[in-house]
Amino acid sequence: MEAKEEENKEENKELDYEILREDFPNYDLSFKLIVIGNAGVGKSCLSMQATKKRFENNYLATVGFEFFVFNVKIDNKVLKLQIWDTCGQEVYRSLITSFYKNSSLAIIVYAINEEKSFEDIDLWIKDLRSNSSPDIKVFLIGNKADLEDERVISKEQALQVQKDFDLDLFMETSAKTGFNAQNLFVEAGRILYKEYTKFKKQPKVSGEYLKKKELKKNKKKKCC
Ligand code: GDP
Ligand code: MG
Repeated sequence: MEAKEEENKEENKELDYEILREDFPNYDLSFKLIVIGNAGVGKSCLSMQATKKRFENNYLATVGFEFFVFNVKIDNKVLKLQIWDTCGQEVYRSLITSFYKNSSLAIIVYAINEEKSFEDIDLWIKDLRSNSSPDIKVFLIGNKADLEDERVISKEQALQVQKDFDLDLFMETSAKTGFNAQNLFVEAGRILYKEYTKFKKQPKVSGEYLKKKELKKNKKKKCC
């Protein structure tokens, strides 16, 4: 019992981190992340703010997808998070579906001042679940937290959705002020690193462990 408690304590321990510059040359582990959600909720601005500490009011609508990098050192390991920022255009559907398959973590974004973007979360979750690996981690993000006066979605409503769909984290952010923008990706790094250390495998090319895990699962299935 005590040993179990110790183990839980160890697992919940906050890991130290250091945010590294975007072009940091080396890394130990690399993970793919996908950012999804309705158009206009601030997916691109959030990725931009977290990685480049910049906010652009007239940011051009994403065509297809964009790619950002967030480097963070956790527990003395450099993690390179490759962030795939998508747009919802149907023509890019098959491309986005292939990103789902290869991602370790999905970030579903809505805007706290837009009801429709929150209502559509279950569509995004369904889409994700039917196209991604079953092990994918999922974060729910309420962006535009600076627009408190225009808020139509409460934190309680979002926490309920997190619970209903068993999502790994809920957080509010503002790409405009920078509130929680980097924290979001630090948390992503932490959760992926914890998952990685659980398997105690140190593949040379990082980010491969999920694939290996899947292979192992399939092998098991075959022999039973
Ligand atoms: P995307 O379609 O989800 O990628 O959304 P964009 O990142 O292109 O942002 C859409 C619009 O929302 C732009 O006009 C941004 O300036 C604005 N925006 C994005 N994030 C925020 C935020 O946190 N606060 C406020 N006030 N506006 C934001
Ligand atoms: Mg965009």
